[in-house]
Parts: sequence; structure tokens; C-alpha cells
Amino acid sequence: MAGRRMPLAPAALRGLRGIVIGTGSANSGARRPIWEFWNNRWLRRALRASRIGALSVSIFGVGYTTGVSDVLADPQDFRQKKATALLKSMNATDAEGHVRLCEDHSEEVKAVKRVLPRLLRAARAQVDALAEEIFQAIQQGEATRSQEKDLETLQRAQKRLQGWSDHGFLVVDVNTPNAFARRPNSIAPVTPMLPRMVFVHRGIFWVDGLARPEGLQVGKEVYVRRDGWQRAKLVSQHQDQWAAILGDSETVTVGPEDMRVRERRQLVENDEQLAMLLGHELAHAVHDHGYESLGIWTTAYSLELVLLSILDPSGMFIFLLELAAGAIARYAFVLPLGRCDEMEADATGLQICARAGYDPRLATEFMERFASFQDDRSPTWASTHPSTEGRIKALKDAEADAIKCFQEHQAARRWL
Ligand SMILES: [Zn+2]
Repeated sequence: MAGRRMPLAPAALRGLRGIVIGTGSANSGARRPIWEFWNNRWLRRALRASRIGALSVSIFGVGYTTGVSDVLADPQDFRQKKATALLKSMNATDAEGHVRLCEDHSEEVKAVKRVLPRLLRAARAQVDALAEEIFQAIQQGEATRSQEKDLETLQRAQKRLQGWSDHGFLVVDVNTPNAFARRPNSIAPVTPMLPRMVFVHRGIFWVDGLARPEGLQVGKEVYVRRDGWQRAKLVSQHQDQWAAILGDSETVTVGPEDMRVRERRQLVENDEQLAMLLGHELAHAVHDHGYESLGIWTTAYSLELVLLSILDPSGMFIFLLELAAGAIARYAFVLPLGRCDEMEADATGLQICARAGYDPRLATEFMERFASFQDDRSPTWASTHPSTEGRIKALKDAEADAIKCFQEHQAARRWL
């Protein structure tokens, strides 16, 4: 019977359509109330939304259960795998895929070993003090709703900080200046998966970079502009032009504009400065920011699913909306909230440093210095971090309290 089709009369097709989508167009004279009811556009949209909502909750539940059972089966193995995946995403692996970490006896690791335990003790005391303050307010019946919520966060932080060992850090051999207990330059909130661990880029101590040359001489190793920067050796000079050998053979002529020299710039120069950076990261843990941003993404995606299910997903407008939904969530919710988190972490970090005995008056100057090392030129609205001016202003606002705390603890120490 190949090639032959049973012809269907147009009237029959209309009738079929009426049954399937419930328009009842073929027998409009005899519509039944049940179809009328079902035809209500808003009812159908509400049903679709709740169906998709329920579906996304189920998918989330399955993922959550699988994750929990993975962790329970072998917690250490889970942490190891997560850490390796994270380090790979940071380009902290060599050509063979091995993670590049700084040696135990390196100056960088020694510095973190000196500073982190002091900060952890101070962070624990800071959380206890904040929790006690709210607890007192609750006892006196003066606590607000948001304070009660803060208390829950602080109680989670107390548990996390109690179990955070003095060895809960990794110094990763990466040439960019970052440290994170949550990833500041990425939206992916990876580190709620790896609590009690701060990842320190070796680049916060010093960065290797290319600088404009000064005092050129024959025999000097330079980098010349070709496809990117290529290593070369200067062989002779004619006025301001230089002849340089690329690799083994090719000779090129270049001016100083197209030449760079390798330069190592020191960023963190002392324990006070390192404490400012690590204190900021511990403050993220105190406020549970990583966990909160995970919640924001989950809500944003669920909302997107429900919205798309209410609106007709066949139109071009909706298609475009779907494409843009990630960007809308990112710029409307995640980034602005992330920038608030940074300000909060700066202020709490300053308190933690002060409590640990590091002078908070050094923070604003260091913030300017730190900003000059970062080549992130994206405007504030597109960045996870607020502008340097905004952060310095916030630090200045938090400084008075921190100085008071610093002086109290200095005085207390003198009596010990
Ligand atoms: Zn941060």
C-alpha cells in the first residue's frame, strides 16, 4: 500500500481538532460545559505552571538525593574529586593534568600557615559574638525577623568554622591574584560543595608579567610582539631600533613599543595584607554567601521554567526570552546581590582581622594596591565585585568599629 494515503475530509479534521484541543469548533452548537471549563486560558496556564513547578522540584529532589548519597558513600573521595574539578577549572593543572600546588616549605605556604589559624580563631569569636548579640535581643523580645534569620546563618557558620582545621587551605600555583572560599570571579558557586577550605592563588603573593622595557642592552632576553609575545634575544641596536633573534634563527627588527621584559611584581608584602585577603574570604563563610548564591540560582531557574510554561512557548518572543533568561537572572539578581555580599565580606573581614590583631587601618591602602594588580576592566554592573571606590568607601565606613575592636584586643593581649 506504499504511496497510498487515506484521504481525510476537512470537516473530519476540524472535528478531530475540536476534540483534541477542546475548541469544539466542529459542533459549536452542542458544546459541553466541561470543555468550556477546560478552555479557560488562565486555568490551563496555571495547571501547566504547577506541572512544570512540580517537575522541577522532583528533578531537584532526585539530584539532591543522588548528591547526598554520593557524599555519604565516601566523603573524602567526594571532596577530592570536587577539589580536582575546581582546580582544573582554575587552570591549575600542568600538561599531564596534575594539579600544581605550591610546595609545603615554600614562603607562600608558610605565610598562610602563620596567618590562617589566627584568623580562624578570630572568625569563630566574631561569629559567637554576633550570635550572642542576637540571642540577647531575642531574650528581651527585641529581635527582628531578619535578625532571627541571621541567627540561623550564624549557627550554620559556627558549625562550619568549628570543623575548619588550620590546614584547611591550598595554595595553588596560578599566576593571578585571587583567593577564595567562594569563587569571586565566577558565578558558579562551587565551594559550598567544599566547605572548610580556602583556595589561595600563588598570584596574590607575586605575579609574573610583562612590562615595558628599561635599560635595554645587547644580549638581554625580551619578548617581541608577533602572534602574541614571543621570546627573543637582542643582538644589536641602530638608533631606537633593535635587532633580535627569535628562537634559534629568525632575526627581526623591533622598536621599544613592540618589546616587553619579564617582570615579577610583589603584591602581598606582609602578614597584615595577607590577613586582609584571607579575612575577607572567611567573612564569606561567616555569612554563608556561597550557599545563598546557590539558592538564588535555583530560584531564578525555577522561576524561569514556570514563566516559560505559563507563556506560550511556541512564539519567537518566548524563544528569545528563553535565550536571554540566563543573562536576565545574572544581571538582575545574581550580580547585584553578589556585589552586596562583597561589601558585607569586606566589612566583616575587617572585623575578623582586627580581632586577630592585624591593624585594620592598613586595609584601604592595600585595597587600592590590590585593584592595580587586577586587569578586570568590566564595568561595575557587569562584575561580581563592586568598584574599588565603592569598596574603599565601605571599608572606611566599617573602619571605626574595627579600630575599636583592634584596640580592645591589643589591650586585652597586653594583660595576658
Ligand atoms: Zn569576595
